[in-house]
Amino acid sequence: MSTDLMARLGHVRERVGRAADAAGRPAASVRLMLAVKRQPEALVREAVLAGATLLGDNTVQELVAHAPGIADLGPELHLIGHLQSNKVNAALRWATCVQTVDSVALADRLARRCVTLGRDLDVMIQVNVSGEPAKHGVAPECAGALAEHVAGLDRLRLTGFMTVGALSDEDAVVRAGFRRLREVRDEVAGSGVPGTAHATELSMGMSGDLESAVAEGATIVRVGSAVFGDRPARPAR
Ligand SMILES: *Cc1c(COP(=O)(O)O)cnc(C)c1O
Repeated sequence: MSTDLMARLGHVRERVGRAADAAGRPAASVRLMLAVKRQPEALVREAVLAGATLLGDNTVQELVAHAPGIADLGPELHLIGHLQSNKVNAALRWATCVQTVDSVALADRLARRCVTLGRDLDVMIQVNVSGEPAKHGVAPECAGALAEHVAGLDRLRLTGFMTVGALSDEDAVVRAGFRRLREVRDEVAGSGVPGTAHATELSMGMSGDLESAVAEGATIVRVGSAVFGDRPARPAR
């Protein structure tokens, strides 16, 4: 087993623990997800053997490539990248949660497919808190309505909200976005609308901004480069 990987995983766990401590939160209230995009299968398996229990894949293609090699170890596998409607069937084969529901159409399609398969699926609503046009997700002011729609669908279990933080060097800007996601979560989970009471997860924070996310209430931080080092380049097309 690579001692590098173990050391970096330990270091990131320490960062998360310190951030939780600083926020007056129990360390166990924040789960560490490994964002495994573009990592080779062998390294992903190594990370799971080293104790990672929660993994996030950005594309269905990568999910399908990574999942069979680690399924025996039983990690939770979340989809954390945009899901195209023609990939729903493949995603459902392996994903235990789709964090990136951002439209009624996608939610309806997932629900219909789950009804057909007779299975349940955890989902989160992806919110674009920064308004950056390159980012997926619903606008914060539309998130509540989408969440309530999803909460009413058969076979989907709304577990919370996900965002990718603002691309900014200013901590105050990044934090304000994370705070906005928390406000959306508090509003929905406290709405009393059937199916929303379990929507408590806040998936936010990455290698560069996990401290700010934990300070604002993150329950899942998604970390890639701080554990794996620089990502391999995208394959040439
Ligand atoms: C790549 C990625 C991460 C992890 O980012 P790092 O900066 O490598 O920690 C988290 N979430 C999503 C959606 C990502 O695409």
